[in-house]
Amino acid sequence: MRITILGSGTSCGVPQVGCPCEVCTSTDPKDKRLRCSSLLEVNGKRILIDCGPDFRQQMLGIDFKPLDAVLITHEHYDHVGGLDDLRPYSIFGDVDVYAEKFCADHLMERIPYCFTPKEKRYPGVPAINLIEIEPHVPIVIRDTEKELMSPRYLEEPVKQKRQQVLDALKAEKEARVEGEHGDVTIMPIRVMHGRLPIVGFRVENFAYITDMKTIPESELSYLQGVEYMIVNGLRHHEHPSHQTIDEAIAFSRRLGVKETWLVHMSHNIKKHQEEEKLLPSGIHLAYDGEVIELL
Ligand SMILES: [Zn+2]
Ligand SMILES: [Zn+2]
Ligand SMILES: [Zn+2]
Repeated sequence: MRITILGSGTSCGVPQVGCPCEVCTSTDPKDKRLRCSSLLEVNGKRILIDCGPDFRQQMLGIDFKPLDAVLITHEHYDHVGGLDDLRPYSIFGDVDVYAEKFCADHLMERIPYCFTPKEKRYPGVPAINLIEIEPHVPIVIRDTEKELMSPRYLEEPVKQKRQQVLDALKAEKEARVEGEHGDVTIMPIRVMHGRLPIVGFRVENFAYITDMKTIPESELSYLQGVEYMIVNGLRHHEHPSHQTIDEAIAFSRRLGVKETWLVHMSHNIKKHQEEEKLLPSGIHLAYDGEVIELL
């Protein structure tokens, strides 16, 4: 499994516009944090977690290939503001976006044109297939042949690129050995973002949890055996709906996770290099563009 940190910052990103603090004015690229999102590559599938307002910029640096699933943790703007920018990915067929009912209802209300049924769609809107999920009901991502967007909507270079990508994927699939492809099962887990119930996701021995303040005791059994985790740690002082860095460390220790990467940081921490030195073993500050290879 490979995880690419697309964004490790809090809702307004770092630097925060107009802020003269030492983190916001740092020249270290690790102090530049886009809104929180990660790309998971597992069993030959590409799974995006959250699609915030920096999605377009985040994907410019990443190989262009289809997204097999987009998992949404919750409906706050910093996690869904980029859904319209899924448009380029819909040339490979409707993009499957997974969200809880409560979150899906919000999205339908806020950006209804993104979810127009196929028959009524006009070119220029994203082709999204919104799928409702529930905590503890596994999501299974399968190898499926999708109906491609009609070539008459594509400009020539894009049409050629699509063919190239599809040919390369086909060759990749044929070359893969048994056990390196197949379904991916994802378990949604309930966590609390202050008073708002949201979801985190577990894939094999890895968990991705963001915007959590607390977790119901009953969820811990779903996280048993997790060895690697990405989890939110906002800053050092208390926040009503986000874990502090110390709370994130305590949570990681409680689960007995081997390696933890913190995300959703604000500018209210030290600069990356200094803050990283203060963290105990097995806990890291994630940074944008970081690639984590898990066995
Ligand atoms: Zn957030
Ligand atoms: Zn600042
Ligand atoms: Zn949030």
